[in-house]
Amino acid sequence: MNETKKILHIEDNFENRILVRRLLQAADYDVIEAENAFQAISQLRSNRPDLILMDINMPDVDGYTLTAKLKTVPGIKQIPIIAITANAMRGDREKSLRAGCDGYIEKPINIDTFLDEIHYFLEGNIGKYPANN
Ligand code: MN
Repeated sequence: MNETKKILHIEDNFENRILVRRLLQAADYDVIEAENAFQAISQLRSNRPDLILMDINMPDVDGYTLTAKLKTVPGIKQIPIIAITANAMRGDREKSLRAGCDGYIEKPINIDTFLDEIHYFLEGNIGKYPANN
């Protein structure tokens, strides 16, 4: 039997957090959340998620900066970080990967493919789902 996977969602926007939480909880994922970098670091002191979903545009510390920081921390740097990037912003993807993100999901989230994307990244795949796209 599969162990329940834990996902940390870092996102400052309330509506986006609700949407992602509903989708993930409906699929029986254990969801923890942070509204900013400070809360994210606090969550990671007491939790070891299997995957981190990282918003890019956040006040104070943005997703690139937080990712680059987390990727230096022993015990945390091996957790896959998936950027959630605005799909119009092509430069965001490259910047996310350069900051150390393992992959990205486009915003607005496609609710029909979101869980497949999550599964793909939990399996250890990187880049973008589907792979040949
Ligand atoms: Mn945001």
